[in-house]
Amino acid sequence: MGLRFICALWMAKLSIPALKITGHNATDFPGSLAIKICPDFLERIGKPATIVAVTGTNGKTTCANMICDAYEAAGKKVLCNRYGSNINTGLSTCLLQGATLTGKAKYDTAVLEIDERSATRVFPSITPKYMCVTNLFRDSIMRNGHPEYIAGILDKNIPAETKLILNGDDLISGRIAIDNPRAYYGIEKQPSDVVECENLLNDMRICPICGSKLVYDYRRYHHIGKAHCSSCDFKSPEYDYSGHDIDLEKNTIRIRDNGGDYEYPLSNDSMFNIYNTCLVVALFRELGYSGEELAKIMEKVKIPDTRFNVQKSGSVSVVTQLAKDKNALAVSRATDYVRHLPGHKKMFLLISCYKDEHHWSENTCWLYDCDFEMMNDPLMDQLICTGPRAPDFYMRLLYAGVPEEKIFFELDERKAAREFDLQKDDTVYIFCGIDAFDLVDDCRKIILKRAEEEGL
Ligand SMILES: [Zn+2]
Repeated sequence: MGLRFICALWMAKLSIPALKITGHNATDFPGSLAIKICPDFLERIGKPATIVAVTGTNGKTTCANMICDAYEAAGKKVLCNRYGSNINTGLSTCLLQGATLTGKAKYDTAVLEIDERSATRVFPSITPKYMCVTNLFRDSIMRNGHPEYIAGILDKNIPAETKLILNGDDLISGRIAIDNPRAYYGIEKQPSDVVECENLLNDMRICPICGSKLVYDYRRYHHIGKAHCSSCDFKSPEYDYSGHDIDLEKNTIRIRDNGGDYEYPLSNDSMFNIYNTCLVVALFRELGYSGEELAKIMEKVKIPDTRFNVQKSGSVSVVTQLAKDKNALAVSRATDYVRHLPGHKKMFLLISCYKDEHHWSENTCWLYDCDFEMMNDPLMDQLICTGPRAPDFYMRLLYAGVPEEKIFFELDERKAAREFDLQKDDTVYIFCGIDAFDLVDDCRKIILKRAEEEGL
């Protein structure tokens, strides 16, 4: 054990209380400090024998949290980076917190959310036993380029012995590290499926083997669905964990595997989160939990309320819905979900890349990958464009055909919350990223207070 490593470990451990006392976020700095002192810190730090990694473009935080919840519901204490960052420095922080003063692991299991772009820095040092992948889509184009590029990074870096838990309905992420052991989860054909793509994002159109056109047998959204090649024998994989009979009244899904066909509770009714449930079920069945046992465990698995939260005041409801900035898929899925909910809605757009706005100008091309056309909907009564990107949203909505009189424009977010046209029985959907929770909270409170004061 090197002196440099021990020095890095202790300095980093000591920095945690110091950061907390001074009110700083202690999720990234300690790991970053440790790596500065000891560049191979991540390799040297003791790791739990079982590491479950979670990655993918969308849903990885939700899935990692669901997996931690499930472990806890099963009575197992696990190490996880639930509140931390998901790159090499954040993972170092998490692992050093789970290690003794000599650097030995205190836990036997860790659940680690890993940023898909960080694979190069993480996997030489960490070998997950299981790696769960949610999906791969376009995201933060200036950083991530294209999903095929990210798939390539994962391909080259995932350790050969890691078993992959993959989305069988996603032909991009489903084909990574093709020689690794793997299990596929998926959801069988649904009444709402289509054949032709209705979305702007559609990144899997040709056969990855021969380059001929792919034919979709059915498509859920974007490139998610079941397809086969029009000329060679390439086709979507068979599922090992096959979701079927989704019952949104009872909030359940049945998932069939080679050990039986069981009913599991759903924690949310959006298709996106139903996939997340399938992923968690597939993992725990792989880990050896019985269907009956797992059904009970899944009762206790919840979606964190920063992702989807409803609050009411009088007849007015305010729903915060995570719709990550720079991520056209997240915004499109959230829009599609909301437009299918019953009743009239007002859309409050707080997806202005707040973290970036002071430092650099984010490329706004992602707005033109978002299905804003779905906001041109008779039940969407008002669209509130606010924040530093309000003019961009305004223009994008006009391109989507939204009538100008439906758009409320105000640069100041809190002022917008005070002044837009709020009526009795309104449901206001706040679309927000993960970078402006205080602002979101303020706007929500203003709207709820208005409802109370105006007797709505
Ligand atoms: Zn082909």
